[in-house]
Amino acid sequence: MRRFFEHVPLELWRSYHWQVQNRIRTKEELERYIRLTEEEIKGIELTKGLYPMAITPYYLSLIDPDDPRDPIRLQAIPRAVEVDERVQSLGDPDPFREEGEVPGLTHRYPDRVLFTLTTFCAVYCRHCMRKRIFQEGERARTKEEIDRFLDYVRQHEEVRDVLISGGEPLSVSEEKLEYLLSNLRKIPHVEIVRFGTRLPVLAPQRFFDDRFLDLLEKYSPIWVNTHFNHPKEITEEAEEAIDRLLRRGVPVNNQTVLLKGVNDRPEVMLELFRRLLRIKVRPVYLFHCDPVKGALHFRTSLQKGIEIMEYLRGKISGMGIPTYAVDLPGGKGKVPISPNYILKAEGNTFLFRSPLDGTVEYVIEDAQIL
Ligand SMILES: *Cc1c(COP(=O)(O)O)cnc(C)c1O
Repeated sequence: MRRFFEHVPLELWRSYHWQVQNRIRTKEELERYIRLTEEEIKGIELTKGLYPMAITPYYLSLIDPDDPRDPIRLQAIPRAVEVDERVQSLGDPDPFREEGEVPGLTHRYPDRVLFTLTTFCAVYCRHCMRKRIFQEGERARTKEEIDRFLDYVRQHEEVRDVLISGGEPLSVSEEKLEYLLSNLRKIPHVEIVRFGTRLPVLAPQRFFDDRFLDLLEKYSPIWVNTHFNHPKEITEEAEEAIDRLLRRGVPVNNQTVLLKGVNDRPEVMLELFRRLLRIKVRPVYLFHCDPVKGALHFRTSLQKGIEIMEYLRGKISGMGIPTYAVDLPGGKGKVPISPNYILKAEGNTFLFRSPLDGTVEYVIEDAQIL
């Protein structure tokens, strides 16, 4: 499709570095492509220095310029509501208390650690759960910081799963990535490494580079957790990126965030999950939008999420139904939420509500007669 950028040679368009170097960062640049609303013009001005804007040409090209409520537009272009006094006063910059004594490291579950490798992102998503880091400038962890993290993991034998996030962790140089991965692989108790990356959505061209893919393949098992929020994001380029990852033995899972105005309609969510299965990406989580300062306007009711989960059941394979979860503030962990299917429980007799229709009585036999 390549809306707005038909004149760019394909070779440049398919280059990740071109996409990053040509990110749209000012109101003037953006106005060349899209007629901005008052709310957006004010938004870009008022969020300057607080929550900066950056949009790759690729992600911008997905926006329908005639639709002020376009789901890509809402995720990428600042709006004045982000700095609205009420939105600001209610939110918390770091609801999960992620910052510990080792910079970038959060160790909340015994077997897993989270490490933020950089504050850089290809696109600054307006709903970002780590919106606070927009203010830190674009900076990757230094070798010394990575060494502190590696030391921590070495000393904690219970850690089997290392989740590398950011910012955009797969944006760092190949040298830095190789340094991190090769050292993690030397730690015997580290079983898997996961990247929380939105590049398949924001700049899928990252994965068109065979040398880069060699690196991911070399340090297998590596998993990718990505972040598709809307069926419009599943383009030919995104599909190619996923296909290349899968061919290198990197499984790709998805985490969606429930966002008001973007994907809070059951039909949209069903189409998203169907299309994800078609490109062989498993939807693992649907997160309720976190109470993050500057992003509260994206929050829906909890009921909305439950309604969506209810709608999905029966219309798509269980493989395509993620766990709907709320991340508890204070670092208390993610809790799954589900519509209730048990209407009554008396001893060993249960009354279930069928996701297809009606109710069914279900009895568990007394163990003693078996
Ligand atoms: C979400 C999260 C994880 C990973 O949780 P999974 O359920 O394994 O995806 C790990 N550590 C922290 C701090 C997290 O917030």
